[in-house]
Amino acid sequence: MAAKPLAAAAIAQLEADGVATLIGTVVNPAGLIHAKTVPLRRMGSFADPGLGASPVWHGFTIDQSGIAFGENIGVVGDQRIRIDLSGLRILGDGFAWAPGSFFDQDGTPDPRCARGTLQRVQDRLSGAGIDALVGHELEFVLVGPDGAQLPAHLWAQYGLAGVLEHEGFVRDVTAAATASGVAIEQFHPEYGAHQFEISLAPQPAVVAADQVILMRIIVSRAARRHGMRVSLSPVPFAGAVGSGAHQHFSLTRHGVPLFSGADGPAGMTAEGAAAVAGVLSGLQDAQGVLSGSILSGLRMQPGHWSGAYACWGTENREAAVRFVAAGEANPHGAHVEVKVIDPSANPYLASAAVLGLALDGLENTAALPAEIAVDPSTLSAEARAEAGVTVLGAEHAGILDALDGSARMRAVLGDPVVDAVVAVRRYEHEHFAGLDAGQLAEKFRLAWSV
Ligand code: GLU
Ligand code: MG
Repeated sequence: MAAKPLAAAAIAQLEADGVATLIGTVVNPAGLIHAKTVPLRRMGSFADPGLGASPVWHGFTIDQSGIAFGENIGVVGDQRIRIDLSGLRILGDGFAWAPGSFFDQDGTPDPRCARGTLQRVQDRLSGAGIDALVGHELEFVLVGPDGAQLPAHLWAQYGLAGVLEHEGFVRDVTAAATASGVAIEQFHPEYGAHQFEISLAPQPAVVAADQVILMRIIVSRAARRHGMRVSLSPVPFAGAVGSGAHQHFSLTRHGVPLFSGADGPAGMTAEGAAAVAGVLSGLQDAQGVLSGSILSGLRMQPGHWSGAYACWGTENREAAVRFVAAGEANPHGAHVEVKVIDPSANPYLASAAVLGLALDGLENTAALPAEIAVDPSTLSAEARAEAGVTVLGAEHAGILDALDGSARMRAVLGDPVVDAVVAVRRYEHEHFAGLDAGQLAEKFRLAWSV
């Protein structure tokens, strides 16, 4: 087989680059990143036929030990995780990393695989003649090794103090990202104390989500070197600012942008407007995938820039869907930012939900409501109702019921994915709904950390 000599050459090259250990990752419906490692000589086997994993990986919950058993998530059966060598990146210190996908033992893609699900949506878009690019934002809070809050004697919102206080961390992250080939667009202190944000360059959807995982590895390794950890909780500290995982996307048909250069709303083409309408109208159904953890509702509040108002608006940071128009100051062109996503979400599934809804809207010529040009909280309740602006729910059980009962989300993601997401999130609800905000934030501050 032709793959073997190729693998031998790749292994020799990686050896020359100092790589000894290869890490492969998969992300589960609860947003947990799982991993297996192999010595470099086993790289070919990790790629094909892959390494074994039980189907219960899809049911692991955020409390370090739980499993949400379900119809197809039990003790019987075995699957294969195959790494995608085209996504392999060198991490340094003898490590390389590659993203993995789930397959059945006979080599068919597992319908529960998040990465495979996003690939299917990407393929459907391509089949419709459309290319999507996705740009991710990572927001996170630096904490002590045990999750303790760091002292914030020097901190201003988006302040230079944050860069200087953490200059070693900033330097290490930038250098590691460059060495691993991740294109950081910008990296800056955020609003909350010890909160940072990194924006990544737009990429095709699967590659873009892969790079989120790589970036989480990079920031987490750098934080460790400085005696800290990275909290990827949507609400690291109750009552303080939350962390989002906003995703920006743009669509083109044969290279022609759908979000600019036309006479539709805000310069969109008719197809572009229908795609935005698809996302907007599906937000309530998709919330369980985009921001569906037991903590997510604490962040999803008006006034937090988390996009709690289900509406769209040009440069409106309180809108769930923020439109960013084309122009000289915007080298990436017009795009749409979905603000409701938070870091407890599986980034592959969140992209699959958003892009799947966009395609659905486009195919069904969905009608886009008028844009909201002001902070929706300044409108009266009557004016909001008239404009069709609702506040996205913050009540966990209701969010999960909406996802469970959504024929649209089931068509976009497939029943196995929706069932698995609902199962892990209902587990959170059943076990932890009795905790108050402070207890929840404390308990799960490091749940998504790596
Ligand atoms: N931290 C905010 C959130 O939870 C977002 C701030 C921003 O717009 O970057 O979504
Ligand atoms: Mg931000």
